[in-house]
Amino acid sequence: MDQALEEARAAGVRGEVPVGAVVVSPRGQIVARAGNRTREMSDPTAHAEVLAIRAACADAGSERLVGHDLYVTLEPCAMCAAAIAAARIGRVYYGASDPKSGGVAHGARVFSHSQAHHVPEVYDGIGAAEAEALLKDFFASRR
Ligand SMILES: [Zn+2]
Repeated sequence: MDQALEEARAAGVRGEVPVGAVVVSPRGQIVARAGNRTREMSDPTAHAEVLAIRAACADAGSERLVGHDLYVTLEPCAMCAAAIAAARIGRVYYGASDPKSGGVAHGARVFSHSQAHHVPEVYDGIGAAEAEALLKDFFASRR
């Protein structure tokens, strides 16, 4: 999660919402890391999780990441949760809760939905205090 928080901080410096994600292989190696780049790429889908999953899949030469873990500093949105399910990620560790846009414990609750093809193990609140502080500072500085 420290690496994901590092990616989140770097995203904030780039003027992006500070969210970072890391994908870890079944052998415990970091295979991809990314921060939000929606502004830079002019792409509303360029969330940290999507970018990290894309990079990890490219690296693996597969559209599935069976047995991989994803660490992300903020509760994934519905789009990212769907991507996580499609990639067959084994475990998701996330930091801050996101009542506004989250799609795991809030809103669409993608993994609890009957259409979910794959349900990862989910662990929330990991490094939450730091992830929340990053987001709070970022939005406070925008006002
Ligand atoms: Zn997302």
